[in-house]
Amino acid sequence: MDDLIFNLKSILKNSKNLVFFGGAGVSTESNIPDFRSKNGLYNAVSKYGFPPEEILSRTFFEKHTNIFYKYYRENMLNLDALPNKAHEALAKLEHMGILKAIITQNIDGLHQLAGSTNVIELHGSVHRNYCRRCSKFFEAAHVKNTTNIPTCDDCGGIIKPDVVLYEESLNFENIDSAIKYIENADTLIIGGTSLAVYPAASFINYFRGNTLVLINKSSTPYDKLADLVINGAIGDVLSKATNFEVE
Ligand SMILES: [Zn+2]
Repeated sequence: MDDLIFNLKSILKNSKNLVFFGGAGVSTESNIPDFRSKNGLYNAVSKYGFPPEEILSRTFFEKHTNIFYKYYRENMLNLDALPNKAHEALAKLEHMGILKAIITQNIDGLHQLAGSTNVIELHGSVHRNYCRRCSKFFEAAHVKNTTNIPTCDDCGGIIKPDVVLYEESLNFENIDSAIKYIENADTLIIGGTSLAVYPAASFINYFRGNTLVLINKSSTPYDKLADLVINGAIGDVLSKATNFEVE
């Protein structure tokens, strides 16, 4: 493991255009549960009567808005969560001028809280919420602190989080921007994802740089494509590999 981290450190030192693509595994060390994990799934079915994939769909939001919000408040709005070592290491790489963009599937805003500024949030963010009638903006605390269905204090419209639900399409500008960064990167690190979920896997095809690094707790179908695979806790790996200063 130390050898692999040493390799990663030298890759980072030599990179001038690094892009990081991250999945749920980046946030699990901040105690944000991955709702796709077995525990997440079983707990949801017994407590809410539906699997998370169904609750987090557009149809379900329209039809059972109250159950959606009960699940959402209790499972998706982890407003006390703090950035972990992975978020901090990536923010450091941006400040050193090495990392150009973070592309994330997470909706928790922890990269920005750690100090990263160029974050492409493919699945949106719990920190942006809008009235569906008048588009007024609401912070996550407003959604967290209301009961039942959160509504707009101006017009009474229902508030919807700016989070991409199942059956909804991703924002095209975000996809475009993510692809451009990946196409121009000399190094791509993919971390905290098994690459099973669209569009993560398809993004790899746009990478034309020198070095592809995969960091995940378990192996992924793309390990054989990578120049370096590290199976470990991403916070540990990144904090050790970024333990240097630029000259
Ligand atoms: Zn309104």
